[in-house]
Amino acid sequence: MSAFTDRYIKNFMAELLARNPGETEFHQAVSEVLNSVAPCLEEYPFLLENKIMERMVEPERVIMFRVPWMDDAGEIHINRGFRVQMNSAIGPYKGGIRFHASVNLSIMKFLAFEQTFKNALTTLPMGGAKGGSDFNPRGKSDAEVMRFCQSFMTELQRHIGQDTDVPAGDIGVGGREIGYLFGQYKRLRDEFTGTLTGKGFAWGGSSLRPEATGYGVCYFAQQMLATRGESFEGKTVVVSGAGNVAQYAAQKAMRLGAKVVTLSDSDGYIYDPDGLDEEKLNYVLQLKNVIRGRIKEYAKKYPSATYYGDGAKPWGVKCDIALPCATQNELDAEGARKLVGNGCICITEGANMPSTPEAIEIIQGAKLLYSPGKASNAGGVATSGLEMTQNSIRQKWTPEEVDGHLRRIMSDIHEACTKYGTEADGYVNYVKGANTAGFLKVAGAMMDQGLV
Ligand code: NDP
Repeated sequence: MSAFTDRYIKNFMAELLARNPGETEFHQAVSEVLNSVAPCLEEYPFLLENKIMERMVEPERVIMFRVPWMDDAGEIHINRGFRVQMNSAIGPYKGGIRFHASVNLSIMKFLAFEQTFKNALTTLPMGGAKGGSDFNPRGKSDAEVMRFCQSFMTELQRHIGQDTDVPAGDIGVGGREIGYLFGQYKRLRDEFTGTLTGKGFAWGGSSLRPEATGYGVCYFAQQMLATRGESFEGKTVVVSGAGNVAQYAAQKAMRLGAKVVTLSDSDGYIYDPDGLDEEKLNYVLQLKNVIRGRIKEYAKKYPSATYYGDGAKPWGVKCDIALPCATQNELDAEGARKLVGNGCICITEGANMPSTPEAIEIIQGAKLLYSPGKASNAGGVATSGLEMTQNSIRQKWTPEEVDGHLRRIMSDIHEACTKYGTEADGYVNYVKGANTAGFLKVAGAMMDQGLV
């Protein structure tokens, strides 16, 4: 990197921090992309002159709103709603909605920023956005969740639409919440369109959408492993999380011949040395999606498993492959050292930004196969894009058709990463590859469309 670029990055980050104080997750996401794309900025000075990066870090629109709702006991609660419409250069805004107590503007902006590059990588025409609320669905009744969703959508509906902005699920927003959100949208707008994705199969949803993110993670990991003549067959896999992404990443890894030995939630993790099987996984799906219980119940049901509480993370469990599928910054330097020390060969991210910058440095320093979420978890939004297509043409594709598209898209993303991320010694830096490929596509579209 030249002295000029080095100085540019330092000045850029100093200004970003000053303009967006306290938004640590957003700073982290921007810093990673900026360091990856610095060589492009050197190579194409017009990108600097046109302040493309400066424009990319400024959301096109940020919507913040009050979400009042009443609990079952009649008490009134006020939450905060967000929609960050980051970049629409290559298509209508697209990105999930997160309901979690930790949600704030920084987390929304980091997710919307990441989404912009991820969506560009999918090869589909989708811009980047993210939304959510600091509402905590844990322990709420179905009726409370419904009233909250209806209040949230009462404001959000005026900012979204099938050609404007198409939200989907994320942490705390699954099939139940998308149903309540869609019902209220349809009621207020009097239209049945594909404005939300992740819909129920009977009312506009795509087959394989629930499975898509987790399956896509494993398809991407397969491609990574193949670069070293490896596969899932006979490997031990550590998965974090127990939600949508973790469930289907575990299922696909199992079906590809691996032994999945952990799952987790924010309270702790279970270690099952015998590995999950289809029956045990079905129990997890019931537990998490229907009963809405905690992962520690697994160890009560299956005595082969041990539960580790107090927020413990599974990274100390010996494995060949790790799939972080819970949340941002869940894999830190200590966890990375344990994985490397225990002989792990591949870390494929299912969550968004689950590894801290220090962890990434350790993992890449040891030359492990390592992919950032924006590449390896893009199968979810890609299949949402396929749901939009099916809604537009008023048709439904079979699971085999959707799976074929998903596999091709994950393979195309892998190819883009190797094209832009292969270093002089042959090591594929998937972070650099994903950031560069996504950045160049969005930057090109922004240049074509003038100063807007
Ligand atoms: P879910 O809500 O279905 O599951 C989230 C899981 O992560 C739960 O097990 C949850 O445990 C755990 N978790 C959440 N917050 C924390 C925390 N602070 N510490 C430890 N564990 C935590 O969400 P998804 O599976 O949909 O999303 C998981 C990740 O994947 C997120 O980063 C999301 O942005 C990303 N992603 C999701 C996509 C999708 O299609 N759903 C697409 C692309 C990315 P608990 O019950 O204790 O909260």
